[in-house]
Amino acid sequence: MTLDKDSILLIAVAIFVIAFLLASLPLKNWLEIKRVKEKELGWVKWLNEKPSRAEYCEIHKQDPDKISCDFCGASRQLPSLEMVITHQPKFGVFNNTFDRYSHFKTYICSGCGTDLYRERYEE
Ligand SMILES: [Zn+2]
Repeated sequence: MTLDKDSILLIAVAIFVIAFLLASLPLKNWLEIKRVKEKELGWVKWLNEKPSRAEYCEIHKQDPDKISCDFCGASRQLPSLEMVITHQPKFGVFNNTFDRYSHFKTYICSGCGTDLYRERYEE
């Protein structure tokens, strides 16, 4: 079998395109991981705007099992799930693996609606 010039050119272009796609996959996955980490940083910042449950108890001298609002004295806090993000993604050449999640919750006083403390849960 002999190939004419056009066929050789076509095959060369095809090989080039495939090589380019294969090389761009890791780059795309790397950028995806970078975005996930940036998003996590943003939510960690949000989390740090309020004390954690343990810090709240320490600051206001409260029992972690019986927290009452420092402003109105109400003893119920309503958890509010603000965000679920992927956490510690694993880089892969073809696909990244996302199997861990972080839940960001804020606890709101049922009496006066104040954001009392924030927690992060991982799974
Ligand atoms: Zn309150």
